[in-house]
Amino acid sequence: MSSRAYKLAAVAIGVLMAATPLAVFKLWLDDYVRREGAFEVQTAANHVAGLAEQRLGLAVDELDKVAGRGVASCRGDHLEVLRNANFSASPVKEFSILGPDGRTLCSDLGIAPGERAVVALGEIAGRGDVAIELMQVGARQERFLRIRRPAITGANALAALLPPDLLLTPISAVGAPVLSQTQMRLAGGAIVGESGPAALPTESFVASARSDRFGLSVMVLLPRSVKFRQHRDLESIGYMIAGAIALLLFGAAALRPRRDHDNPVVEIENALRAGEFVPYYQPVIDITNARIRGAEVLMRWRKPDGTIIPPSRFIPLAESSGLIAEMMRHLMRAVRDEMGNAVIHRPFLRFGFNLSACHFRDDSIVADVREIFEGSMIRLSQVVLELTERHPLDNLTSARRVIAALQGLGVKVAIDDVGAGHSGLSYILKLGVDIIKIDKIFIDALGHESSSTTIIETLMDLARNLRMDVIAEGVENFEQVVALRERGIRAAQGYVFAPPLPGSAFLQLIEATDPVAAVQEPLPAVAHRRALVNPLGPRAA
Ligand code: C2E
Ligand code: CA
Ligand code: CA
Repeated sequence: MSSRAYKLAAVAIGVLMAATPLAVFKLWLDDYVRREGAFEVQTAANHVAGLAEQRLGLAVDELDKVAGRGVASCRGDHLEVLRNANFSASPVKEFSILGPDGRTLCSDLGIAPGERAVVALGEIAGRGDVAIELMQVGARQERFLRIRRPAITGANALAALLPPDLLLTPISAVGAPVLSQTQMRLAGGAIVGESGPAALPTESFVASARSDRFGLSVMVLLPRSVKFRQHRDLESIGYMIAGAIALLLFGAAALRPRRDHDNPVVEIENALRAGEFVPYYQPVIDITNARIRGAEVLMRWRKPDGTIIPPSRFIPLAESSGLIAEMMRHLMRAVRDEMGNAVIHRPFLRFGFNLSACHFRDDSIVADVREIFEGSMIRLSQVVLELTERHPLDNLTSARRVIAALQGLGVKVAIDDVGAGHSGLSYILKLGVDIIKIDKIFIDALGHESSSTTIIETLMDLARNLRMDVIAEGVENFEQVVALRERGIRAAQGYVFAPPLPGSAFLQLIEATDPVAAVQEPLPAVAHRRALVNPLGPRAA
């Protein structure tokens, strides 16, 4: 995945992770408020129905008692009984005596009864003699419930009048101001009374309850918005907590790629996975005939935007982090796949890879090189491994063993940057390498400093005696080429010939200088070249 796609994915995951606690909290809160709202209206409905039943029952009991005391007329002692009854049955507004035609003859209050009309009639369970009536009273046509029963003697009846307000006592389960609407109906559907706001939003919690004894039904409605408003505190706290969790998760997800970005080792790891480390090839030239003898492979970090990063900016970290081993395997495979076709027709070409000190600590490099090149179009004998003299090895014994094992595979080992370190000639001798690469500082000093010339001549003697090849590095001008040739050096690399080139350019260069058709024919110069001390070794058969 590219780093851009990775970042996008991380942000998407972050947003998702951030939204989840918010969504979960919202769901929980909705459910909680819904359950609490439903419970509250049901409790209110049950309460109202129960209270009405209890208060109407009290009125019935009181009427029974009054009747039992023989009250049947508007006589003074009878009215006295009614007045006493009114004291004990507080929800009753008035006790009265009704004539055989149902008209109110008198009441305990003593005031003249206003116009009264029965609007609806209901029954009381188990009491065929008692009726419950919905009345309209007075000029304002106020609604009342009336309980009526016959007197024990005579044709008159006794009645108790109750205001519906007292039956609809609005309550709230949580003791908050009542914002619900309560409605009570008689069995036939006539509305006994209503309390609470007249108009309610359609989104409401609804519950109903019944008083079977009096045939009354009660319905309570509570707007959902009211319940949600009551839980605004909880909602705010919840959102704050969920938001904090969301922010933490989001931050973690969003910062992850950032941390990667800030962590150069992770950056190298990602680049390795994305195949951003690519081989560049600096041609090694046979300066006796100007032909290409191979190349040194130099790693480049090619970023997705095309920027090329030089090895000095990432190799030290790759080495200290241990990533270098995997990077080298990747680089060798890339060279094998990119160069294989060209190399199979040019078996004299050699490819030099730069190894780090850590590669000489154990045998894994031997197995890697074998696994990558054995049986491939680049033969093991065409592989050169360079070991720098700049940083002396920590374990010479192990290095010697690894070098011998590599040579056993047919691979050539070169000592790089000779002269740049301070290891001395004995070091080179102990390692038993195949090629010496003379560092640029000696090449630069060539012709100016006699000591440099002397060292090069000593190195040449040593190489000749030990049958080692010599390559001059960092050759920048033609005078240097001439001076090297005069001292018997045959192989060189440097900007005077070519800088490190991308694979495609290097392929074009070898195709132009050594066309396949030409190299496949036996060359007259071959015998001559073999007779020379060819710095890159004899041309493979
Ligand atoms: P080195 O092995 O000594 O590589 C030669 C360096 O000199 C290269 O620098 C090359 O571009 C540069 N060079 C070549 N010709 C000339 C010239 O005429 N004049 C000058 N001034 N410089 C020239 P580069 O490619 O930047 O590599 C630097 C170092 O990074 C290499 O030094 C090598 O030690 C290390 N390196 C490069 N690729 C790899 C790799 O794949 N693995 C490891 N472990 N190290 C690598
Ligand atoms: Ca090198
Ligand atoms: Ca070098």
